[in-house]
Amino acid sequence: MKFTILGSGGAIRIPRACCTCSICKEARQKGFPYKRLGQSLFLHDGFILFDTPEDINEELNCHSIPRVDHIFYSHWHPDHTLGCRIIETLMDGSGKQVDVHIPKNDINITINQNPVFEYYRSMDFCNVISTNEDVYINKIRIRKIQLKNEFAYAFLICQGNKRVLYCPCHTMHIPYLPDLYHVDLMILAKGYSTILNDEWTNFERDTLRIIKELHPKRAIITHIEETDGIGYDEYKVMEKDLRNIEFGYDGQVIEI
Ligand SMILES: [Zn+2]
Ligand SMILES: [Zn+2]
Repeated sequence: MKFTILGSGGAIRIPRACCTCSICKEARQKGFPYKRLGQSLFLHDGFILFDTPEDINEELNCHSIPRVDHIFYSHWHPDHTLGCRIIETLMDGSGKQVDVHIPKNDINITINQNPVFEYYRSMDFCNVISTNEDVYINKIRIRKIQLKNEFAYAFLICQGNKRVLYCPCHTMHIPYLPDLYHVDLMILAKGYSTILNDEWTNFERDTLRIIKELHPKRAIITHIEETDGIGYDEYKVMEKDLRNIEFGYDGQVIEI
């Protein structure tokens, strides 16, 4: 399986508009990989996109993605869904409907009480597939893993004997299911370095503990917040003390 991280940023991107901190200044000057757009992952096998942050059009352009056939949504939060108008853009370019996969009865983005995905479906821009069953695309099996907070999902992506767990957000709520131990690759949201409360994932308290307990062969950290105040170079230094753990970046290609 071949993946590209299209966006490794969190709810607040780097650079943050109007911010004059050194991290944002550096990102403006140097661009990628110092710059981090909204969280999104692309699986080249099957042309599968996971989530659509508002930067998704730019992300698809920057990383030369030729085609999108499927979009999987992890949860409704705006940092993962507000680029959903890409459905219209993709249809207009290819004339081919995208398959939009949402958890059963779970994602309902509405504008002025009108459900957006239903509107796009009625316009023949997309098909909407609402299920919690496994989805098979070519030889890839995608299982939706409902997180313990109940409204968000991770994905277990399998091909042959390879297993990848992708948790785009809310890492602290990953359930310890038997299939999630010892995966070949985990790509998971970092959580905050600076904020400690019971509702939000904290990097040290939650993410590092989960990696240690589920014991993947390799882990890549993403959904990296500007508010943590840590730049790309500093993450590269931090990596040296973390066995099997890397900090992802926009445009990173991962083959497994
Ligand atoms: Zn800043
Ligand atoms: Zn998020």
